[in-house]
Amino acid sequence: MDGKQYRQGQEAGRASPQGRNIGYPVAGQGRPEHDPGWARSLSLIAAQWQQIGGLALATGRLARQVLGTVTPVCHRRRDWKPQAPPRLAAETGESAAGQDCPAAGAAVDHGTLARYAACPFQAWAVETGFVEHHSAAAQAGREVHRVIAEAMRRYVELGLPPAQALEAEIINARPDVQHKAVDGLRRAARAIDRFLTSIHPDDILAYRGGSGPRSGRMSRHVLPATPDRPGVLAASEVDLLYAGASAGEVHEIDFKSGRRVWTATDVSQAFQFRTHCWLLFGRFPRLELHHVRVWNTRANVLTPAVSFSRRDAISAGALVKSAALRREMALAEFGRTCDGAEADGPVGADRRRGDDFYWPELEKCAQCPACLKCLAALAPAKDFAAEPERYLRDTAAMKAALAARMAILRAAVRARDQDLVFGDLAFGVEKPTPRPNPAADFYKPVAAGK
Ligand code: SF4
Repeated sequence: MDGKQYRQGQEAGRASPQGRNIGYPVAGQGRPEHDPGWARSLSLIAAQWQQIGGLALATGRLARQVLGTVTPVCHRRRDWKPQAPPRLAAETGESAAGQDCPAAGAAVDHGTLARYAACPFQAWAVETGFVEHHSAAAQAGREVHRVIAEAMRRYVELGLPPAQALEAEIINARPDVQHKAVDGLRRAARAIDRFLTSIHPDDILAYRGGSGPRSGRMSRHVLPATPDRPGVLAASEVDLLYAGASAGEVHEIDFKSGRRVWTATDVSQAFQFRTHCWLLFGRFPRLELHHVRVWNTRANVLTPAVSFSRRDAISAGALVKSAALRREMALAEFGRTCDGAEADGPVGADRRRGDDFYWPELEKCAQCPACLKCLAALAPAKDFAAEPERYLRDTAAMKAALAARMAILRAAVRARDQDLVFGDLAFGVEKPTPRPNPAADFYKPVAAGK
């Protein structure tokens, strides 16, 4: 990105916002040390975890084992009382709460806009509910965010050590994803507690779940109102935003609990943080630098800080607007709801396969929840010689659709506990093979082959 300022070395060597060494993880310097007793306790709990009947009990025990060794050190002042966020808000006269999704206009969150920036048809299908998109990993991630947000709220509003809330709230996680949420948080729990208590509550500008001036929610007009629809706002929520060394700097920490370990390059290119950059520079007119780090809680690895300047905010604004315009085009093409869509594709598309809405790529198609409805995947094969690039890209979408179909067939075999056999074609695990535990696959039934 033009003008991107990486401060990796500077930030990596920085002990804490206050200059104290709190031992929170820094990319390139490995993970924090784990004491052997704590590791043994986790092994013990992992074994207990297998006993399904004791799921909730084991989770509570695990959380206590994770956090039991923590000695919360709260650095708040004795005379501490909740106050308005300092410096930036005060100096600019900006009301953060006033930015919290104004009523005029429909707010579109950054995740939806990011999908439109990646593939408009996929985004339209997910946004309107044309395809179902549920993910246990995403739900577990939401639980991790909820737990950390509650820990921050208790620390900022009540002055309580975050460790207590981390322990109490992880036990309240949704039972179906509780074990996933614990896996996503346990390695970082101690470090998060120490990191948060190293920041004075008055220096915390905004956080997820915060209220009033400390609300982490932000929105900004991206498209003006037209006779057909109200204005469109781009919206998002920061996990944690705290004051920097000068009045023109803020630091953002974003918690990610998935298996992917984010790097500084990922941060600099992510639609999410470019959107945050644009939103924050709109919220704080005197802001000069916005530093972002991602805390990979599953691995307990923190990326170096990536710094965004006002110049970056201009290009980020153009990106957000481009995604919002593409969303308007898709809604106009396919409809604002999926009510009229056919089972095998949207009516509005008139089965046209244009480059405006289908942007196949191997990686994004492989994870696309709409691949079975995608015209790029369903279109008849084109002439390779005439359009080699489209042929290749459509094949990537077809590959994803085929993988999704195989997954459906395998699920059907598992659910029925018997193979699918139709005439001389069968699918399942009974395929004659010398290998043990074969994967479900096509084969010729013995009777049909005779
Ligand atoms: S399969 Fe690929 S091209 Fe089709 S909707 Fe999904 S991401 Fe887009």
